[in-house]
Amino acid sequence: MKSNEAEIYVHIPFCVKKCDYCDFVSFACSDSEKEAYFKALINQIDSMKETVGDTPIVSCFFGGGTPTVPDERLLISVLCKLKESFNFTEDAEITMEANPNSATFDKFKAYREAGINRLSIGLQSTENSELKCLSRLHTYEEFLKTFDDAGRAGFDNINIDIMSALPGQTIESYEKTLERVCALNPEHISAYSLIIEEGTPFFDRYAGGKGLPDEDTEREMYYLTKRYLHEHGYERYEISNYSRLGYECRHNLGYWKRVPYYGFGIAAASFYGDRRYQTHSDLKRFIEGDFSADVEELTRDDAMAEFMFLGLRLVMGVTREAFFDRFGEDIDAVYGRELKKLESEGLLCNGERIYLTDKGMDVANYCMSEFIRG
Ligand code: SF4
Repeated sequence: MKSNEAEIYVHIPFCVKKCDYCDFVSFACSDSEKEAYFKALINQIDSMKETVGDTPIVSCFFGGGTPTVPDERLLISVLCKLKESFNFTEDAEITMEANPNSATFDKFKAYREAGINRLSIGLQSTENSELKCLSRLHTYEEFLKTFDDAGRAGFDNINIDIMSALPGQTIESYEKTLERVCALNPEHISAYSLIIEEGTPFFDRYAGGKGLPDEDTEREMYYLTKRYLHEHGYERYEISNYSRLGYECRHNLGYWKRVPYYGFGIAAASFYGDRRYQTHSDLKRFIEGDFSADVEELTRDDAMAEFMFLGLRLVMGVTREAFFDRFGEDIDAVYGRELKKLESEGLLCNGERIYLTDKGMDVANYCMSEFIRG
């Protein structure tokens, strides 16, 4: 990505019902609140015109929540507003998250015609008992219908989200999920391990680990993901993300490469001018026109550490040249000791390109922590 490019994220917090494991800012609410939220988004876009200026926008991501829950005309009006306000490149990647059952063929067609060219569908598992346990509202069969509707509506760049380490999940049932998902031939697969987040019903139920696959099984699922997906034509390009060649998610790549992005909506994050912004999560305040955000000014050390621990999430890692271009310093002068240490432990390749080995990827958190000082 060129340094004068930027991305856009729009948070749509609405869901039909809250899942028991979810700690995203998402909830059910009335149609009138939804309408008021989209109106406020339009106002927020107006308020950001000067800040964004004519920076080329190379990707836009509608995340949530479930962006397909509100009436499609609301989201499309926001997309149109973004396009007329900012300088979208002709080939901009425009992704929308969707959940099974939340959109029909006609709805998908409307999104596609409005310019959305990538979908990310939350399947999680093809085992209905596991979906039920997650309190997801769909079955595998309903997902199949949604996936088919999306394809027929013209979506030819689709991600499927799956999860491992679920309550009651076995190696065999997880392999079944991998097998069925690969058989559908999506362009991209995101495979995350369930994380039990504090403050969710799952935390009360599973915090001690009882009812969850043990650590060895979890690791085995992690290795199986990589092996199975590789054998079926999906290459890992980030710790948890796999794609067919040429279908890596541009939006996420930009995030890991520290491309500036502008966030819209409650709880949306932004990053530009070496500052990180985090908008508040209060729907009522947002609807009333309060778009305020907490601001964190990144020091040079923070920015260098971020460059390393975000870049090393990518299989391709980082380059010495990019570090020098960005900070005007040789990477060895800053991180020589850390790079040597990780290299000597067999966790990192330290050539012109610096990247984690397979072993390093397995203990990525440990490797990343080496670059954080203070
Ligand atoms: S559908 Fe996704 S965002 Fe909505 S509650 Fe469930 S996990 Fe959270």
